[in-house]
Amino acid sequence: MQGEFDVLIIGGGLVGASLACALGQAGVRTCVVEASPLGGGQQSGYDERSIALAQGSQRIFAGLGLWSALQPEACPIHTIHVSDRGHYGFTRLRREQEGVAALGYVATARVLGKVLVEGLQRLDAVQVLAPAQLTAFHIDADAVHADIEHRGETLRCTAGLLVAADGAQSAVRRQLGIETTRRDYEQTAIIANVSTDKPHNNVAFERFTDSGPLALLPMTGARSALVWTVRADQSEEVIALDDAAFLERLQQRFGYRLGRFTRVGSRNAFPLQLLQASESVRPRLALIGNAVHTLHPIAGQGFNLGLRDVAALVDVILDARRSGQDIGSLALLQRYAEWRQADQRRVALFTDSMVRLFGQSLPPVAWLRDAGMLALDACPPAKRWFGRMTMGRAGRLPRLARGLSIADE
Ligand SMILES: Cc1cc2nc3c(=O)[nH]c(=O)nc-3n(C[C@H](O)[C@H](O)[C@H](O)COP(=O)(O)OP(=O)(O)OC[C@H]3O[C@@H](n4cnc5c(N)ncnc54)[C@H](O)[C@@H]3O)c2cc1C
Repeated sequence: MQGEFDVLIIGGGLVGASLACALGQAGVRTCVVEASPLGGGQQSGYDERSIALAQGSQRIFAGLGLWSALQPEACPIHTIHVSDRGHYGFTRLRREQEGVAALGYVATARVLGKVLVEGLQRLDAVQVLAPAQLTAFHIDADAVHADIEHRGETLRCTAGLLVAADGAQSAVRRQLGIETTRRDYEQTAIIANVSTDKPHNNVAFERFTDSGPLALLPMTGARSALVWTVRADQSEEVIALDDAAFLERLQQRFGYRLGRFTRVGSRNAFPLQLLQASESVRPRLALIGNAVHTLHPIAGQGFNLGLRDVAALVDVILDARRSGQDIGSLALLQRYAEWRQADQRRVALFTDSMVRLFGQSLPPVAWLRDAGMLALDACPPAKRWFGRMTMGRAGRLPRLARGLSIADE
């Protein structure tokens, strides 16, 4: 079997599927190769973790024509409340101050995945091979050549551009010898849905504790999504607690801003690291999403950043098609890399600095960060900058990130 495509995407996680949706809508012949059944329960990235979508990501989903399907299952965030357990510092960001309907939205990765997969199924320009394996590939001056095993057959594919969207352990990145820098945070995020006896009133809480940050994100159905970071050597013990003991421990850590915790659903654990690839493009190759940057979820930025990679890459590819350029040319892909570099570095630095700053329990550091939070709360320009970071509006924005459709390009 043979196939000829413009773009071959390896990895149909949230980022790879978003790229395929955008390209398919613009009529770019795209093939997605996903190792698990797409959107099935086994796919790691489409699980019950809750994703805080920045306002910029909401615009991208609107530009993709998928927001109307997502909106009923996405809970708007009206206020973000950041506090430091055992200290006086806190800051609050409100939608009224930013002049927006919502600072962001919360939806589970499972729901985001479902909406994306349904979107893909409507696109004639997109072929999805899942479950499938990229067994071999090479890149020459004219094309990418790949062998893909799917349903017991080998499909020989050629494409103008190979996109690695295959996550933190990216096999494409490793096979090409692209180096990474990593930092193991020696922390684990425990996620679960919880119910409380007070309503969340659309407030997202980020609370820093001496054992790691704890976020409670508002969800539809009057629940909250818990992302609780603990030291890696404590995670097994916390996961194994029975429901009553787990809720009691959580209550001690979070306090009573939402009243009493009354229920907890199933719990899952994610080891945390910072990973940055040293290159994001080569001739006929682009890396996006977790394959190029994997972040700590402390500030809820990983998928938002990956979606901005998608929006920028789509702009560059569509510009190239309009002007008759080769979509795999290095000069063109470098425009994508340069465009994304500042945002990727800024968000990785911001996230990593928060982990370091709030991981310190030494009194001088705690005083300084509390003073910093109070100063941030009292200083409108600094708060506006924080708001722009949180909402994904910093830097030059591609077409999709401005909420514009690419379907007619
Ligand atoms: C606890 C937690 C909470 C988070 N909260 C937020 C949040 O609030 N906001 C936010 O923006 N981000 C958040 N994130 C980050 C976000 O989940 C990730 O950034 C995002 O899911 C990355 O998507 P991806 O598609 O790049 O990678 P992945 O989800 O890793 O997808 C990669 C895909 O590639 C497939 N694959 C791998 N190898 C191959 C291969 N050889 N061939 C074919 N397919 C392959 C995999 O099966 C997978 O489907 C959170 C992360 C965690 C852990």
